[in-house]
Amino acid sequence: MLSVLFFIIIFSAMLGSFANVCIYRIPLEKSIVMPFSFCPLCKNTIKFYDNIPLVSFFLLKGRCRFCKGKISYVYPLVELIMAVGGGWLYLIYGLSISFFIGLIFLWILTVISVIDYYHQIIPDELSFLLIGLGLIFSFFNPFLEGFLDIFFNGKHSILWARLSSSFLGFLLGGGVLYLIAVMGEIIFKREVMGGGDVKLIAGLGAFLGIEKIFDVLFLACLGGTVIGGMLRITGRNKKWQPIPFGPFLCASAIFFLDNKLNIWYF
Ligand SMILES: [Zn+2]
Repeated sequence: MLSVLFFIIIFSAMLGSFANVCIYRIPLEKSIVMPFSFCPLCKNTIKFYDNIPLVSFFLLKGRCRFCKGKISYVYPLVELIMAVGGGWLYLIYGLSISFFIGLIFLWILTVISVIDYYHQIIPDELSFLLIGLGLIFSFFNPFLEGFLDIFFNGKHSILWARLSSSFLGFLLGGGVLYLIAVMGEIIFKREVMGGGDVKLIAGLGAFLGIEKIFDVLFLACLGGTVIGGMLRITGRNKKWQPIPFGPFLCASAIFFLDNKLNIWYF
């Protein structure tokens, strides 16, 4: 059990390394497979022994071996998020389908969050990946269970319940956010919500289902309002300066990867 947990944490940290490659390359529209990782400053190829998740950053004291240029702390942070997240999912679900679905979900959301934070864009290929996988996985996605119970009192196919929860989460999650975006533009005469956020929440809905998607939205709005308000009060942000909403959506969606958590009765 403990050795499996250890292996899971290392494996997840390696997924974090791959997330870093995607975070750096997808916005530049470069291949995520080739070439090997290189230093963005001096372009030297990073040796395999300098590419150990988390460990290498500290051994190299956060600097490139060749040019001594500073490596962003975001790299080990992403690896840490994946390592901790992977271990957390294993402790909740063990080695089960829920665990693997949760891990893939966590990985995509981590990549989206960091890209949105730095570039204020959510690449379409990532949103579409989320929507596609969410709908395909829905057949055996245990996060979607329970839906339809109130209508049919358990006398229905569990597959049908999962698929409809996923599809309605995709449709209504995306639909409601699209309405907010359109109305916001009419009322405030400016873009209050990007098209990227609409596609992202459609994907979150496909993964987490109709029951959870509005909880995700509520928690993300709460987080965005609190953090945005703090940035405004401390003078770090000007009025109307947009803050990326993607990381808030992703963080609250990750929160709900623990199926037992419920914001309404803590
Ligand atoms: Zn370098």
